[in-house]
Amino acid sequence: MLEDLDVLIIGAGPVGGHTAELIAKAGFSVAIVEEHREVGEPVQCGGIFTPRVMDLVDCWNTVLERIRGCEFYSPSGKELVLDGGKTAALVVDRAAFDREVVRKALQKGATCHLGALATGVQRADGGLSVRVLMGGIEEEIRCRIIIGADGVKGNVTKWFHLARPYRVLPGFEAEVVGAEHTPGYVKVFIGRKVAPGFFAWLVPSGGTARAGLCLSQGNARAYLERMFLQGPPASFLSGAKPVGYIIGGIPIGLARRTYSDNVMVVGDAAFQAKATSGGGIYTGLVCAEHCALTAIEALEAGDLSASFLARYEERWKKDIGRELKRYLFLHKVLSRLNDKQMEEIHKILNRPRLLTTISELGDIDYQWRVVLGLLKQEPRLLRYVGSAIRALL
Ligand SMILES: Cc1cc2nc3c(=O)[nH]c(=O)nc-3n(C[C@H](O)[C@H](O)[C@H](O)COP(=O)(O)OP(=O)(O)OC[C@H]3O[C@@H](n4cnc5c(N)ncnc54)[C@H](O)[C@@H]3O)c2cc1C
Repeated sequence: MLEDLDVLIIGAGPVGGHTAELIAKAGFSVAIVEEHREVGEPVQCGGIFTPRVMDLVDCWNTVLERIRGCEFYSPSGKELVLDGGKTAALVVDRAAFDREVVRKALQKGATCHLGALATGVQRADGGLSVRVLMGGIEEEIRCRIIIGADGVKGNVTKWFHLARPYRVLPGFEAEVVGAEHTPGYVKVFIGRKVAPGFFAWLVPSGGTARAGLCLSQGNARAYLERMFLQGPPASFLSGAKPVGYIIGGIPIGLARRTYSDNVMVVGDAAFQAKATSGGGIYTGLVCAEHCALTAIEALEAGDLSASFLARYEERWKKDIGRELKRYLFLHKVLSRLNDKQMEEIHKILNRPRLLTTISELGDIDYQWRVVLGLLKQEPRLLRYVGSAIRALL
C-alpha cells in the first residue's frame, strides 16, 4: 500500500498537472501517476495555442515563437494570407511546458509518481483502490476521488463505461531543420491528397519547424512522407531534414458522461479537444478548472456521489460544451468536402471584405463567431454546409 489520498490523478499531461495544482492549493492530498519516466515525453503535440492558455498556467518561459498570421493553401496550392496584426498564437516547447505545469503542482504540495502505470481500479470502503505498476511491482493506491486525465488512452473512461469517442484523428509530425517558412506565420494546407478530412501544417518553432498533419482516417505516416515529396507543402520542405518525429491521436466527440461515483474524466480523456483544429490544451485546461473546483467542493461537503459530481459536467458544458458541439458539427461538414469544393471556398474567402472579417472575428479558441460572420456576409458558403449535411444524412 502506497498512500491513502483525497485525489489520485491518472496522467501527468498539462490537464492532469493543472488539476493537481488547483486541488493541492486548496489543501487536499493529491498525487499524479504517470506511466512514462519523464513528464512531457514522448511529445505528442504541435505545441501551438493562444496566449489565453498562459492566463490559466503561466508558462511563458516555454515559448519558442509568437504567431501573428496564417498562410492558408488550397488543394492546388493557391495562397491566402491571414494577419491579425498581433500575436494570435504561441508555439511552445511542449515537453518543457508539461514539466512546468507539473512543477507548479508539486510546488503546491502534490506528488507525482513517474514510471507508474495505472492498470485497474476497484471500489473499496466508499472510495477507490487503484492498481499501479511501478518498476515491475504492482502497488495499490487508495483514494476518495480518481480523476482520469490519461489522454487518448482514456482507461478511466473505459473502466467506468463513460463514453466512446466519435473518432480518433491520427496525427504525425516531423521536427525539421531547413524548411522554408515565414517567421511569425503558420502554413496550413488542405486537400484530400494532403490530409484527407483534416489538414497539414508547417509551424516555425525556434531554430526548427514542425511539419505535421492529422487525418480523419488513414495512415498518417504515409501522408507525412508524401508531404515532403508532392503537393503544395513539398515546395517548402524540399531542403528540410527531420530531427525527430512525433505520433499521436486526438479523440473527438461528445462524451456521453464525464463523471461517476468518486470519478471524473477531463482533457483528451473526455474528448474535450476542438474537433476543427485538434487543439486540446486550452479547452482541456478550462475543463481542468471546473474539475478541480468540483473535486474541492465534493471533498469539503464529504459527498463524492455521482449526483454531486454531476455539477462538473454541467459547468464545463455550460462554459465550452456548446462550442465543442458546434466544432464537431463543423468537422463533420468540412471532412466531407472534396478538393473542388475546398478550392471554391478558398477562392470565396480570398476577398478583402471576408479577410477583414476573419482578422476581426477570428479566434482559435472561439471559432464559431467567425464562422457565423462569414456565413452572414457570404451566403454562398451555406451551400457547402447544405451539401455536406445531405452527405451526412
Ligand atoms: C499530432 C498532434 C498535434 C497536436 N497539436 C496540438 C496543438 O498544436 N495545440 C493543442 O492545443 N493541442 C494539440 N494537440 C492535442 C493535445 O496534444 C492534447 O489535447 C493535450 O495533450 C491533452 O492533454 P491531456 O493532459 O488531456 O492529455 P495528455 O497530454 O495526452 O496526457 C495524458 C498523460 O496520461 C498518461 N497516461 C495515460 N494512461 C496512463 C495510465 N494508465 N497510467 C499512468 N499514466 C497514464 C500519458 O502518458 C500522458 O502523459 C495535438 C495532438 C496531436 C496528436
